[in-house]
Amino acid sequence: MSHTDSPMEGQQRQEEEDHGYGLFPERQQRGHPRGSFLSQSLFTFNHKCRVMLTIALDSSPYAKLLLDAMKQSGCTVFKDRHFSCEDCDGSVSGGFDAATSEIVLCQNNIHGQSHMNRVVTHELIHAFDHCRAHVDWFNNVKHLACSEIRAANLSGDCSLSSEVSRFKFGLKGHHQVCVRDRALRSILAVRKVSRETAERAVDEVFESCFNDHEPFGRIPHNKNDAKYAYREFQNRNRYYGNI
Ligand SMILES: [Zn+2]
Repeated sequence: MSHTDSPMEGQQRQEEEDHGYGLFPERQQRGHPRGSFLSQSLFTFNHKCRVMLTIALDSSPYAKLLLDAMKQSGCTVFKDRHFSCEDCDGSVSGGFDAATSEIVLCQNNIHGQSHMNRVVTHELIHAFDHCRAHVDWFNNVKHLACSEIRAANLSGDCSLSSEVSRFKFGLKGHHQVCVRDRALRSILAVRKVSRETAERAVDEVFESCFNDHEPFGRIPHNKNDAKYAYREFQNRNRYYGNI
């Protein structure tokens, strides 16, 4: 796995040897039939996950903008081919499997539509980076760091102006502190690197990657921002399309 979406602290370190695949047990046992009881009990989670995915792709301006941008870059995303609802370990909510270009959605950990929207957006930003740049996910920790910074910055992961985040980071600069913190946690979840190495990578690329807002053209702090960004993106392309 190239990365995961923000697992909780405390369960970060067991699964690094395998590039994070340990967090995604269904990635490892392809072809092994599950017991029928388990399959049946998973059916509702799986169905609910797919329904929420469809709603996210059809209605979230973040997701719609990213889908358009990828299509335009020659990386059209297909719902059935590029998304997979699976059971994951721990509290991981999603991941981008660079080896197969699939986005994994953790059906056992995503319970609400707004959470689904954020996870889909976060992972689509990784997919967008994968499409537009030759990201060396597995060997270059700075590449991974950059994409995690962008995903945390642009997906709304850090835009929840909740009392919790205010309490944790303080009002001023809490967005940047949150982005840095989440990027660090994502890297440590899937790479066998020391905290110092991860911090160095994040700090080295932070400035340029935090200020790279493509394809949004801004930091979409809320749904309205994302709607404006989506409209601007469409207009931008209409304009260039006429040249
Ligand atoms: Zn991520």
